Amino acid sequence: NSVISSSFQEEGDRQENILRPKLLKDFQGQQRLKDNLAVFVQAARERKEPLDHTFLIGPPGLGKTTLASIIANEMEAEIRMTSAPALEKPKDLAGILTNVTEGSVFFIDEIHRLKPALEEMLYIAMEDFEIDWVIGQGPAARTMRIPLPKFTLVGATTKAGSVSSPLSSRFGITCHIEFYNEKELANIIKRSAQIMDIHIEEEAIILLSRCSRGTPRIANRLLRRLRDFASVMGDGIVTTAVVEHGMERLGIDANGLEMQDRNILRTIIEFYDGGPVGAETLSISVGEAIESLEDFYEPYLIQKGYLKRTPRGRMTTKLAYELLGLPCKRNMDE
Ligand code: ADP
Repeated sequence: NSVISSSFQEEGDRQENILRPKLLKDFQGQQRLKDNLAVFVQAARERKEPLDHTFLIGPPGLGKTTLASIIANEMEAEIRMTSAPALEKPKDLAGILTNVTEGSVFFIDEIHRLKPALEEMLYIAMEDFEIDWVIGQGPAARTMRIPLPKFTLVGATTKAGSVSSPLSSRFGITCHIEFYNEKELANIIKRSAQIMDIHIEEEAIILLSRCSRGTPRIANRLLRRLRDFASVMGDGIVTTAVVEHGMERLGIDANGLEMQDRNILRTIIEFYDGGPVGAETLSISVGEAIESLEDFYEPYLIQKGYLKRTPRGRMTTKLAYELLGLPCKRNMDE
């Protein structure tokens, strides 16, 4: 089914699937979230009910898709996956909803991009486990209520602010996924290296975890690239020297910032005197799509304290000036 799988078939995704933990105990970090989910899963299983609808919020690559499939595994339930941009028409969504099985998990990625008509269908499906289906046209049209099996909707988004409140209020469980610390990333890298049979030294793991932007997807991706550097330029073992060389070649600094991160900060400082500057203007200035600016670059720069979002726009902080070695002429505390 193309609607179900279209966005899940890229090569990177296939590689990612190998590294996806299957159970909560293998999912690193996010301790509080895991502890809570374990309770909700156990309680639902004891009541022999599906888990409440679950909302996963967090930047890309932090484990939302992984958690959705872990929820299904822990519930011993089937899972169907799609992403909102793949659902064009009401019939696309209705087609999936009427085919979910009792107790199964239905995962919708990028749920903030769901079209309004589909969102309305989803409200009723989530609340009453029914959909309204219009048959015929004009005066002869009539609405049929179609009952659905009880299922768990798992919705994921990078942009909680863009999800309407009628939709977000229908989720019984909300999970905020945070950036990972170095120790958690080191555990993830260790596990991935084992699975992919990559030899990496202990010190190199620590160094790599610092360069991974707090993001498991990036840690895993960099690990694969370092394996390439190690096998072409050395004896296949990922040492600290390989990490340093690799990061240099990939334009990633010791804080895990990419060239575009530094470019964004430099642009705000040099062209807009440190800000505030609106997201649209900034996206044009740095030549980056507004979505990737807002979803990918900004959250990490904000978390690291280089950037602030204010009602008037984005502003760099004193730390950003220090990072780039630029003189800070303004009083940053104003
Ligand atoms: P998202 O859906 O949030 O973009 P994914 O669930 O696709 O992120 O995760 C990206 C990759 O990172 C996957 O290969 C997954 O194995 C790995 N990953 C994410 N979170 C964790 C975690 N907590 N522990 C181990 N691996 C993780």
